[in-house]
Amino acid sequence: MNILQDQFDQDQDMSDYITFAHGLYIGGKWRPASDGRVIEVVDPSTEAVIAAVPDATLGDTADAVEAAAAAAEAWRGTPPRRRSEILRRCFELMTERAETLAALISLENGKTLRDARGEVAYAAEFFRWYAEEAVRISGEYNLAPSGANRIVVDYQPIGICILITPWNFPAAMATRKIAPALAAGCTVILKPASETPLTAYALAALYEEAGVPPGVVNVITTSDPGPLTAAMLADARVRKLSFTGSTGIGRLLLAEAAKHVISCSMELGGNAPFIVFDDADLEAALDGAMIAKMRNAGEACTAANRLYVQAGIHDAFAEGLRRRMAALRVGPGTEADTECGPMITRKAVAKIDRLVQDAVTRGAKVLCGGEAPADRGFFYPPTVLADVPSDSEMAHEEIFGPVAPISRFENEAEAIARANDTEYGLAAYIYTRDLAKGMRVASRIESGMIALNRGLMSDPAAPFGGVKQSGLGREGGQKHGIAEFMEAKYIAVTI
Ligand code: NAP
Repeated sequence: MNILQDQFDQDQDMSDYITFAHGLYIGGKWRPASDGRVIEVVDPSTEAVIAAVPDATLGDTADAVEAAAAAAEAWRGTPPRRRSEILRRCFELMTERAETLAALISLENGKTLRDARGEVAYAAEFFRWYAEEAVRISGEYNLAPSGANRIVVDYQPIGICILITPWNFPAAMATRKIAPALAAGCTVILKPASETPLTAYALAALYEEAGVPPGVVNVITTSDPGPLTAAMLADARVRKLSFTGSTGIGRLLLAEAAKHVISCSMELGGNAPFIVFDDADLEAALDGAMIAKMRNAGEACTAANRLYVQAGIHDAFAEGLRRRMAALRVGPGTEADTECGPMITRKAVAKIDRLVQDAVTRGAKVLCGGEAPADRGFFYPPTVLADVPSDSEMAHEEIFGPVAPISRFENEAEAIARANDTEYGLAAYIYTRDLAKGMRVASRIESGMIALNRGLMSDPAAPFGGVKQSGLGREGGQKHGIAEFMEAKYIAVTI
């Protein structure tokens, strides 16, 4: 029985997606894995199996590379205006189908419908942004300093790209790579996370409808990504690996790609500090903390992982956050009034609980939550901890859940030192009414992105990415995201 089909049987669009969701998408065709094996997809709210997708073999993977190679020449030769129009159509179709896509994301990932709608809008925006950028790729032309020749620089598509994405934003992490890759003229093979493959397949059907030619986007799912990715990287026609996921897997993939000298973009883990100075607007800081901590129930690489609050505002902030977190309604993401959905797996719940118990053992105080329920579904209650010591494991590891650990600080230098006391450097948040102080602290924090008096920084028009162990390269932004999918070719010419 296909529970997903039952759930959405009133929705024709969704029925189409579910039909498509039963095949690998290779060269514009839907097909099962060549050995017939499947991966089961579980609803994290109920633990019920909701669908099964093919478990690709090495042979299927080779076919996907073949399909991307067969489509490459025609796609790079497609006029930028035409590529732009197809990308624009992807944006329009995603926007038209936003409710259906949000319901699918919510079902397989567990996030609230509100977060899922936000994700669809954000994910679609990458197509609109790169539809606009596809026609603005420009080269360079100048006289060599010696005067002997002209320097002409042409930007060309890098070649076949392997795109690997995580489960926490099943739509946006894929479109953030696919849209710039296609705008640059590349063909791609997407490998989405095993927990959330349905959104990736639903979107593949939508790209086809928008006019993306067969083989330009291929989607495969596998339960054994290591060997299959290694095989694809060993194919000399593959020139790019763009990965979003954990730092540990990112390191493994960098080592694998190094064997073949393949260009890599890496969007990896985070450990964002959220700093509140005494002079901050308390209500604005609480609003921002709720967004920075609770978007996706804390399952975001940019999630506030350590809240540093200056002594003068500490107690009011901690009480305000406790009140807001304790009031959140926990439940299945697909229910309209849910404010905090389940975690992705039972393993994720166990990790969060381990981190909370470790902090408590070291002296942290539980202001609310703090205990995993025994019920069905992978739930963890919104939790606020105070006086979290800097040697707790959660100060150094991603919590990836609805837990807000608060620590007190005395002065600016201490806030900066503690914010930088991590191997990660993806995102950071600062709240202060003193703009000069905010800018000064922002410039000292070792992080690719800073939100100053805001709880959210993601924007397709801005370069997203991290420093230190949070990654290499940027996605989105005016030049950055598309540059990851192009090579500069220099031509020296005497006229
Ligand atoms: P993950 O375990 O690293 O998995 C990410 C992707 O890599 C999945 O598709 C996974 O496939 C695949 N994978 C796993 N092992 C692999 C291997 N040996 N070779 C090739 N692919 C492999 O991460 P996750 O748990 O899904 O996602 C959470 C992490 O992503 C967090 O650390 C979060 O901070 C990070 N993240 C970063 C950003 C950013 O922009 N910086 C954005 C979102 C998330 P399977 O699903 O089949 O295992």
